Amino acid sequence: MTDLTQLGVKDIRDGVRSGAFTAREVAEGFNAAVAEAAVLNAFIVTTPDHALAAADKVDAARAAGAELGAMAGVPIGMKDLFATNGVQTTAASHILEGFTPRYESTVSQKLWDAGAGMLGKLNLDQFAMGSSNETSYFGNVTSPWKKAGSNAAMSPGGSSGGSSTAVAARIAPAATGTDTGGSIRQPAAFTGICGIKPTYGRCSRWGIVAFASSLDQAGPMARSVEDCAIMLGAMAGFDPKDATSLQMDVPDWEAALNADLRGKKVGIPREYRMEGTDQAILDSWEQGKAWLRDAGAEIVDVSLPHTKYALPAYYIVAPAEASSNLARYDGVRYGLRDLPDGSGLQDMYAATRAAGFGDEVKRRILIGTYVLSAGFYDAYYTQAQKVRALVARDFERAFQECDVILAPTTPTASFPLGSMNEDPLTMYLNDVFAVPASLAGLPAMSVPAMLNEHGLPLGLQLVGRPFDEQGVLNAGLAIQQRAGFTAKPEKWW
Ligand code: GLN
Repeated sequence: MTDLTQLGVKDIRDGVRSGAFTAREVAEGFNAAVAEAAVLNAFIVTTPDHALAAADKVDAARAAGAELGAMAGVPIGMKDLFATNGVQTTAASHILEGFTPRYESTVSQKLWDAGAGMLGKLNLDQFAMGSSNETSYFGNVTSPWKKAGSNAAMSPGGSSGGSSTAVAARIAPAATGTDTGGSIRQPAAFTGICGIKPTYGRCSRWGIVAFASSLDQAGPMARSVEDCAIMLGAMAGFDPKDATSLQMDVPDWEAALNADLRGKKVGIPREYRMEGTDQAILDSWEQGKAWLRDAGAEIVDVSLPHTKYALPAYYIVAPAEASSNLARYDGVRYGLRDLPDGSGLQDMYAATRAAGFGDEVKRRILIGTYVLSAGFYDAYYTQAQKVRALVARDFERAFQECDVILAPTTPTASFPLGSMNEDPLTMYLNDVFAVPASLAGLPAMSVPAMLNEHGLPLGLQLVGRPFDEQGVLNAGLAIQQRAGFTAKPEKWW
């Protein structure tokens, strides 16, 4: 029998539907793979019983002749930013340790309704702040990939690094991610998998621990474009509980996949040729153009003139929103409470927050409160909002000349854990290509292109018009078919 843990979403769902294997066999296989891979630290908690119970439900439904959902029998990893009923939800922070929600996030509920089960809660950068998975209270996540000739532990990217590691290591066929400024696309690129951030508002934010509410979007991470299309379909949809949720029907992205790009124009933003970008990344971009041309697309130059201001604007807007969102963690309602002897309420707030938040989270709160403070609001926050509008306008103009934009996902491949921590700005720069689409709320995807000279994966990014996930997925499929990316990390765990 084939090793079921090598299968992706579509193959598992189709196999369960046809009866080639049972959902229970799949769940058992992945539960065992998860247990074997503890050294990667991809999961904060594992939930094998959740996966088995969901599988048994699917097997029983099939036996009863019922129609099976889009994710039937697919056990997935759930980023520990999604509230899961009865299962600890921490955002990888000490301040939420022991917090067990009594409700389920809309996105996770939709996935369970579609027949998926949960292998466990995936590790991440604390409150999704980071690009390397080194800010988690529960320890670093280690990528399954190694640099050729080196045994150094590599970064799986962040903040969805537990998700990228689990999917790349074949201990989960797919996982949820969230993307505020690149956290689905950058870890996907680092680990040779696919990930799509849909248009802002496609997936409900209800029940997802908030980082920067005007930017946060959930999306799938999986090993193929088809698998992303299927899973995104199960995650998306209007939710009255989220005021920014889009009141739009969810198209059948899987059914409409089409890699024939004749008549389509692909824009190449000239401002993305930035200093500090690896030559191998530039080469992969050239290769990407050739692949899309081969698929029938016309390649055109476009300009996104405010690109260089996007990252600084993001690092004002996102911390500002975070400082406000994180005010609720005060020792009163959730998780940790630090109440020094003989102290009062103010002391409890201070002690709890001092002990509960990690350094990067504190840095963001400090930046956020600073840029929102009375004397600096106009100079920083208002200014950053203006820049954000200009970045969005750049894209609007570019999309008058093209249908989809092709760019690198990141300026470099994965790096060893611990190698980028000298200066936070170096780490922030990793998101330079990802952040503009976040500020503009656009759908964007990373697709694996090739390995670099050190045997590490490189991703290509596609950005689409608002609501045009289909255009992004189709161009992604055209790349996938031509890249033939089948490399996987050699098992060392
Ligand atoms: N790495 C970026 C940050 O630290 C983006 C994180 C994210 O998208 N959640 O803010």
